[in-house]
Parts: sequence; C-alpha cells; structure tokens
Amino acid sequence: MLREEAIKMITERRILSPTIDEKMRGKTITQIYGMNVFNEKNMEKFLSYKVFHSLQKIIKEGGVIDASLAEEVASGMKEWAISRGATHFTHWFHPLTGLTAEKHDSFLSFDRSGHPIERFSGSNLIQGEPDASSFPSGGLRSTFEARGYTAWDPSSPAFLVEGINGVTLCIPSLFLSYRGDALDKKTPLLRSMESLSIQAIRILRLFGNRSVTRVWTTVGPEQEYFLVDKEYFNRRPDLILTGRTLFGAKPPKGQEMEDHYFGSIRERVLAFMQEVDNELLKLGVPVKTRHNEVAPSQFEIAPIFEDSNIATDHNQIVMEVLRKVASKHNFAILLHEKPFAGINGSGKHNNWSLCDSDGNNLLDPGKTPHDNLQFLTFFISTIYAVYKYGDLLRASIASAGNDHRLGANEAPPAIISVFIGEQLTSILNNIETNKSPDYTDSAIIDLGLSKIPSINKDQTDRNRTSPFAFTGNKFEFRAVGSSQSIAPANYTLNTIVADVLKDVADKIESLIKSGKSLNQSVMEVLIPMIKESEPVRFEGNNYDPEWEKEAKKRGLPNKKTTPEAIADFMVKKNVEVFVRHNVLSEEEISSRYKILLEQYIKTVNIEAECALTIAKTMILPVCMKHQNNLLSATSAINDKIQKELVNKYVALVSDFITKITELERAMDKKDSIEDEEKKAEFFCKEILPAMNRLRACADLLEEETDDSLWPLPKYREMLFVY
Ligand code: ADP
Ligand code: MG
Repeated sequence: MLREEAIKMITERRILSPTIDEKMRGKTITQIYGMNVFNEKNMEKFLSYKVFHSLQKIIKEGGVIDASLAEEVASGMKEWAISRGATHFTHWFHPLTGLTAEKHDSFLSFDRSGHPIERFSGSNLIQGEPDASSFPSGGLRSTFEARGYTAWDPSSPAFLVEGINGVTLCIPSLFLSYRGDALDKKTPLLRSMESLSIQAIRILRLFGNRSVTRVWTTVGPEQEYFLVDKEYFNRRPDLILTGRTLFGAKPPKGQEMEDHYFGSIRERVLAFMQEVDNELLKLGVPVKTRHNEVAPSQFEIAPIFEDSNIATDHNQIVMEVLRKVASKHNFAILLHEKPFAGINGSGKHNNWSLCDSDGNNLLDPGKTPHDNLQFLTFFISTIYAVYKYGDLLRASIASAGNDHRLGANEAPPAIISVFIGEQLTSILNNIETNKSPDYTDSAIIDLGLSKIPSINKDQTDRNRTSPFAFTGNKFEFRAVGSSQSIAPANYTLNTIVADVLKDVADKIESLIKSGKSLNQSVMEVLIPMIKESEPVRFEGNNYDPEWEKEAKKRGLPNKKTTPEAIADFMVKKNVEVFVRHNVLSEEEISSRYKILLEQYIKTVNIEAECALTIAKTMILPVCMKHQNNLLSATSAINDKIQKELVNKYVALVSDFITKITELERAMDKKDSIEDEEKKAEFFCKEILPAMNRLRACADLLEEETDDSLWPLPKYREMLFVY
C-alpha cells in the first residue's frame, strides 16, 4: 500500500515552476561563475593594492601570512561577505569521517562602549578552535587533552554558502592537533603536493629548465551518482541508514538494453542538474559535463580539472550541492558505491596529471625527441610508482562501500594495473629491447620517440576496464569510490610518484656527474624501470576472469576486501614512503589505519542491524500474511499442484526465518572479539556472507509474494519510475 501511495505521489508530481532565482536566469555562465567566491576579482575590489598583491604571491608561490596581513585580509573578506548578506563565518574542513565539517560563529561582537559591531579578526581567519573532540583521531589525541584546531588554507578560496534564510562565509581550512599532527584529509594532500613539486623540479632542471618555480598536480574528478525519488527513499530504511539497498530482487529489466547511457535527460532530472550547475558555478566549481550514465537512474557530473587541492575541496562541494539540490527537487541522491545489487555501481574517475608553473602539462608528449624524453621520464616514473606501490593505491580507496564495486564485473577490479595503449607500449618495448648503446638524438628518434606527438586521445582511451589508464595527457585512476573524498587517492599518488622521481633524479644526477650524457643517463635509468614494472602493465580486458589468474602469476596483489587491503598501510615500505616525504608520520598512519578499521566495522554493523530490522519487522510479517492468504485460499481445495505451491512458499518462509536466526547468532558473537583487526575480519567473513544469504532468501520471497503487500519499493520502481 505504501508503495502504491509513493507511485501515486510521484506520478502526480510536476515541475511547476523554475527553481532557479529569477535574477539568475538571464545571466551568462561567466557572470555567474565565482560570484560567491572570494576570488581574485573580489579580492582586488575589497583589499588594498598592496595586500592584494602580497596575498596573491603567497597563494601562488607559498609562504607565511603574518599577523598584519591576516588582519587586513580578514577585514576585506568580512566586508565582501557582509555586502553579500553573510552573518556568520566558519572554518570548513575535512575531518577523517570523510565528510566536511563546519561550526558557525556570527560576526557579532561589541565595541568598548558596548555597542554591537560586526567583527572578524585576523586571528579568526587564521585559526579556529572548534570543540571538535568528537572527530575520529585514531588515538592521536585523547578527548580530555587539547582540542584540535583548524588553520586557514589560503590556497583554496573562501566562499559563501547561501541558505534559504541567510548566508555563511566558509573558509577552507586544515584540521590539526596541537602537536601539529594531521587530523584531516587535506593536510597530507598539501604536504604531498609540496614533495612532488620539489622532485619534479629537479627532473625539469636536469632537462635544462630554469624558469619553473612550482609543479602541482591537476585533478578532474568525474562524479557518478544515482537519483531516486524521495518517496521511495523514505520508504527504504536501508537507503536511509546505509546508503544502499540491502534487499531487492533483480527487476525483469535492468541495464541490459543500454538505453540509459547518454540518453536524453528527463525533464525532471534536467531541472535538477541545471540548478546544481548553477549553484556550483556560483561557487566557482568549473562544472563542464552532465549526462546519463550506464545504469538506469545513474548520472555523472564532471568539472574542468584544477589544482588538486582545490579540486578536492570542489569535489566535496559538488557532493554537498548534489545532496542539497536533490532534496529540493524531491529526489534523494545516492552517492554510495553500490546502491543496487546487479546494477552498475558508482565511482569517481580521478583524472590526474602534473602541471608546471609555466603552464605545461608534464604528461603531455612534446614536439621534439628531447621533450619526449622528459615526458617519458615522468610517464615511466608514474607507471613504476604504481607498480611498486599498487598495494598502497588499492588501500587508499578501500571502504566497505567500494568493496562491492571493485571485483564486480563492471568497475575496475581490485588488481591495480596500468593501461597505456598500443603506441606507447610499442615505444616502451623498443626502448627496452634496444641493444645498441647509442644515445644520440638521432638514435633516440629511431626508438620511436619522434612518434609520440601523434598519439591521439581517442586511441588511448578505449580500454574502459583498466583501473589506471593513460588517456593521452593524464592518468585516470578509476577505482576511487563515488562517496569518497579524493584526497587519500591523490596524496598517495603524489607521494609515490614523488618518491620515484626522487630516485630517478638522484640516479641521473650521479650518472651525469660521472661524465655521461643526459640522454644516456636518462636511458640507463629508465630502461631497467620499464623492465621491472612490466608486470603492472595490462592492455587486456580487466573484467576477464582469466586476468585474475594471470595477475596472480605476475605477482600483482589482489586484495578484494577492505580489511585485507588496508593492512597494507602498515607494511614497512609503505609507511616509509609517507614518512620519507613528510606526508604522514608513523603515528598519523597508524591512527588513520585504526580509523579505517573502525569505520569498516561500524558500517557493516549498521548494515547488519538494519537488515535484521527490515527482515523481521517489514518482510516477515508480510510473508506471514501472504502465507495465510495462500493457506486459506487453498484449504477447501484438494489439488496437488496448488498444495505444492503453498508448501513451497511455506518452506521459503521457514528458510527465511532460519537465515534471520543465523545472522542474529553471528551478530551475538561480535562483542566477544576484542581485537579490531579480528573484528573487521569477522564482519567481512561471517557477517557479510550471512547478510547475503538472508538477502538471497528475501529476494526470492519478493518474487513470490503478493505485489500489493510488499512493503519496500522495488528495483523496477526506484530505477524506472521517477
Ligand atoms: P572522458 O574521460 O570522459 O573522455 P575527458 O578526457 O575530456 O573525458 O576528461 C575527463 C576529465 O579529465 C575532465 O574532468 C577533465 O577536466 C579532466 N582532465 C583533462 N585534462 C586533465 C589534466 N591535464 N589533469 C587532470 N585532469 C584532466
Ligand atoms: Mg574519463
């Protein structure tokens, strides 16, 4: 009945009027873009000439902001924010929960004579002290000890969040303990960018570049998501509490017709997307692309790439705006990696590259063999880093949600391999097998280096199954989960590449010192790396079961579950690489590991409790009713076939009750396991399978039970009726 009601309400829904503010509708994209951001344009207007230029220099080149500069920036920022209606400000940060956090303070203060004034000081800007003792710290900080504090990150611009009843100034910040330990996801990201910059510049200097002052990583995350109508969502406790459906029979039609991908966007969804784009443009998020994805009710939004720090903030903003706007349009947004069994999950393709301060993409093949040798140095170093630290990359994207996706036949698998395309493969093979010790420019051209500029993107981008694919001038890390912060994937990637570049620079420098030419030195360093990292290169179909066997032969790790995958954080070489580059200390790594374990346990625990509640209080009563109906309908009939049907149903219900009991018994054991690693393993190996068995049984019942009784909105409804 509840389901029918929902369908009726949804059918009656119309988009009655535009949801974007009248004032905004005539505006061009360039007029809207960044209007709620304290960007260069607004800074110039609200800061003095001198302050503006000092701040710009620090934003672009790094450096310390002193108290007087902070005071003036704060005052300008406040004027701007107030002119736009802001009453409150907040440090906006990324604690280890994976979400963002904010604690608002008003600008209200009093002057000496007790009159109310609006005040926002330099120290308000630079540092915040939220009573944030309840955020996970993994033991880095006890609750009775000092609180953590937030520190302004001037490299990511402040922005205004408009609510229905007011405006808040948000200041992107880091979150640290008083000892300076990172308690957030952004601090290590900034540290990793620093380290990568230093090492990349060393390589550029070897190739004769004198002008570059900074190298940063660029990221363009493509965000996938599902939309379901709120009426369905509110009738599914599993979606509300866990973000995914814990029950639900496969619908007669799934995604096999492939009629959704790039299909025309329904009016109701388009209205939602238009408002999302509008809100994001105001916040300076350079959204570019929107389309239907492969699965029914699945969509994607992708921005133009940016500096990875800003891209990380912006991706977080994208997820928040999606949520907010969805609700206004009577949709619920599902960012979970696998909201529907048997239907594609959602990921985040993390497009990653390196850009120098002269504006060159270092992963773009150049015009000359010399340029291409430099390109190859960065290219091969990245592949080598993925080879050496594939386990760490896998760990960086591990979560209970992503486990459902990696390893299913749709998303990049848990085996991390690199796809580079035919042309680059043949170039690497040429280089590797080149016996002649001739390293003059002409000999190097013969190896295929002059051909690189002809690579065209469409040729390299065909393999959609690879978790780490080179796509013309960037690598695309596709195993990131749709709900995750992209920070861990990126600080890991930055760190491991920085580490390899450091080694490469050390070696080339010393070979040159010993009298060898640049070409020869570079080749001598790269050739063994090409050879050694060959096992990680895979051009075939990553979904093919044969690949699993092949990867095993090659010695590539294949960690299918989070408990196994995150254990690799604690492996010596992996701890060392973070420590060596000052990205994470040993304590910070082990605290992160503890938090991930804890989160895994809590997530599966909530899922199991939720599954039991639904099974016992929603599904079982309905099945009993249907069983009764069957029994009473057939009691007066003496027909074998009908009796069999009833018996079959009765047996199914009994089986369901058994499965409930089994899951309950398993859950009874969890508290006796003290050790967190063992507990995580228990949830992985005992609880999840018991949940799956319960689900399988419930899904059979769904297919046999009177449709008008079934309490949970069905897949066919959630995915197709909106
Ligand atoms: P697709 O992968 O769907 O074919 P594109 O290759 O055009 O689409 O781009 C996908 C994403 O990659 C976009 O978000 C884009 O901004 C980003 N991207 C493009 N170039 C770079 C780069 N140099 N660094 C990081 N991201 C990039
Ligand atoms: Mg892509």
